Amino acid sequence: MSDKNPYDVLKADVLEVIEESPTIKSFYLKPEKPFEFATGQFIELSLPGIGEAPFTPSSSHYEKEKMWVTIMNAGFVTNEIHKVKKGDVMGIRGPYGRGYPLDVFKGKDVLLLGGGVGLAPLRCLLQTMLHDVDDYKSITVCFGARTPADMIYKDQIDDWTKYKTVAHLCTVDNCKEADNWNGRTGVVTVLLDDITIDPKDAIAVVCGPPIMMKFGTFALLDKGFKASNIYLSMEKKMYCGFGQCRHCVMGKYYACKDGPVFTYEEIKNEEKIWD
Ligand SMILES: Cc1cc2nc3c(=O)[nH]c(=O)nc-3n(C[C@H](O)[C@H](O)[C@H](O)COP(=O)(O)OP(=O)(O)OC[C@H]3O[C@@H](n4cnc5c(N)ncnc54)[C@H](O)[C@@H]3O)c2cc1C
Repeated sequence: MSDKNPYDVLKADVLEVIEESPTIKSFYLKPEKPFEFATGQFIELSLPGIGEAPFTPSSSHYEKEKMWVTIMNAGFVTNEIHKVKKGDVMGIRGPYGRGYPLDVFKGKDVLLLGGGVGLAPLRCLLQTMLHDVDDYKSITVCFGARTPADMIYKDQIDDWTKYKTVAHLCTVDNCKEADNWNGRTGVVTVLLDDITIDPKDAIAVVCGPPIMMKFGTFALLDKGFKASNIYLSMEKKMYCGFGQCRHCVMGKYYACKDGPVFTYEEIKNEEKIWD
């Protein structure tokens, strides 16, 4: 057994806070020492005297000195995190869990299907893949937000799509005339009508609210993606992060230590995976 205390917390200075949407902010953190993680793993981020919650970094795993974390204001802890300012100090523990098997993705078409703040963990994967962009046949980002105001990372799309093998498609559930939205409307799965990649050997990675994960997975299967090539990041309610508290149990798996990344093939027969 490792001597490392699994609850050890690293201090991290808040270098910058960006308002991505009315409910989502990105925090640029500088841990007191370089922080190693693999894309798809998660951290527990804490505020002294308040509490902690699990988040997946949204920056590349090649960036070890600093880290972006994008957080939706969803409840008690995240509401307090949204009050954090540049110059404040937060705590990081981890990394925890199993990330994405990049070696399996290499040489293939990779489709990222993200809903709402679910694009944040996918941004980590995207930035990591962009570091070695030629290793992937193509990368397609399909992103759905509730309204145009809820779209995150809008100013980064040009940076991503400057590579000829990278495409970005987006849609919103609803828009008003005043939004001046000329893009697609409808839930994120409508974007699958527009993709041209051959699903037979392609990889799909899904992250978003449970209902979007469920219908996104079914739409990918309908389209011809294999269950073993559909990767899901299971954001179950969890506390410890390493298989002690049992809050994230899904049948025979713990989302925290066996996941949070699973193929649909691995978990399709477990109970309540979409709850
Ligand atoms: C591995 C993992 C990675 C995550 N990555 C991100 C991320 O990058 N960005 C981000 O904004 N959020 C992410 N989440 C979700 C985030 O952890 C929750 O939103 C957060 O824990 C809510 O804490 P709270 O105290 O603010 O909410 P609470 O006051 O505890 O609850 C408010 C509402 O949020 C729901 N909730 C609580 N915990 C979770 C959870 N773990 N997942 C989904 N809903 C939850 C509750 O059921 C309730 O409806 C991730 C979760 C996991 C497990």
